[in-house]
Amino acid sequence: MLAARSIRVRGVVQGVGFRPFVYRLASAHRLTGWVLNGEQGVEIHVEGSEPRLAAFLHELETQPPPAASIAEIEVHPTAPNGFSEFAIRESEKRERPTVRVSPDLPVCEACLTELFDPKDRRFSYPYINCTNCGPRFTVILGLPYDRPNTTMRSWPLDKYCSAEYHDPANRRFHAQPVACPQCGPQFYLEEGSSAVRDSSEAVNRAALLLREGQIVAVKGLGGYHLACDARNASAVLAMRERKYRKEKPFALMVRGLDTAYELADISREAASLMTSVSRPIVLVPAKVELPHVAPDNSELGLMLPYTPLQYLLFAAGAPEVLVMTSANRSSEPIAYEDDNARDSLAGIADAFLIGERPIARRVDDSVTRVGAFGPAILRRARGYAPGAVTTLPVEGPLLAVGPDLK
Ligand SMILES: [Zn+2]
Ligand SMILES: [Zn+2]
Repeated sequence: MLAARSIRVRGVVQGVGFRPFVYRLASAHRLTGWVLNGEQGVEIHVEGSEPRLAAFLHELETQPPPAASIAEIEVHPTAPNGFSEFAIRESEKRERPTVRVSPDLPVCEACLTELFDPKDRRFSYPYINCTNCGPRFTVILGLPYDRPNTTMRSWPLDKYCSAEYHDPANRRFHAQPVACPQCGPQFYLEEGSSAVRDSSEAVNRAALLLREGQIVAVKGLGGYHLACDARNASAVLAMRERKYRKEKPFALMVRGLDTAYELADISREAASLMTSVSRPIVLVPAKVELPHVAPDNSELGLMLPYTPLQYLLFAAGAPEVLVMTSANRSSEPIAYEDDNARDSLAGIADAFLIGERPIARRVDDSVTRVGAFGPAILRRARGYAPGAVTTLPVEGPLLAVGPDLK
């Protein structure tokens, strides 16, 4: 007998491939109905036989996409409508959005494979992403999470990307920031009054400048980094002097974990924190001294690359240990708008590696360490924000304060 359920899923369920997941699940169980992104979460109407509905619900709860985090699933019996297929519907817009936005995700293995495959359409494309990876919080301008509400709205999809975007079997089905070199934004390099317009040439040139000991401002997910060769003492000293930063340690980005093991004592817990989906800076005991990087400090702050561009930079021959510090003058917050970065970093950076995709909001790298009771988050930002810290049972008003200036 035909039965139906009305389902609402709350939590981090938008921008993590949840609707495609529901679509595939419903199709696999031969259920009909629809799914949409509501402002209170993902809403689903499914109909079919009771055993199929039960199996669908079980998998919905137990096998959500890796980046999703379900806070609550509400299920109500409802009347069947006699739908003949399962569809992804347009988003609803209501008064007060309560859905949680996903933090930014590091580029996934499948995208990395394509990034370095010369036969792939997105070979060397610094903005490659899919439903399992890529920017979220730093591109979202409003809710619900759909392309017109992201900083990708200026780049209409070409036929190729559009076909992937509309194919439920594709990894990029409804991937909002999807793009390719033919239709999407690019990177370019500015060096004094000259510019390198081609993305690949720009990345190669930036890698060369870094090898030569120059300082390059690199646009990241939530702001600009200032990068230089961490093993080049005069480059690091120049960075300190130009930034007016006397002692505060610089964060380092290492090409891979093997490089991290050369620099510091990396425990199993530290390694798993470094490779986690948040990809934070992890404070670890130093084994070597890198002059001017962390003066009078027994620890180093290490992180792994997390954007396609950072992987491309290392692949293009950038030094395997880079200072990657938030681009700002001392005591100012991280620069994230291109014009502001050009102004405030003139006199610090020798060149600018600029990506065309705007950053919706400033998000710094997170800082963590391995604590006695698990990971301790010292600065909760990229990769964690805007995840909920906790849910507090309070009746009165609650005041939360965050840093505007560091
Ligand atoms: Zn991916
Ligand atoms: Zn495209």
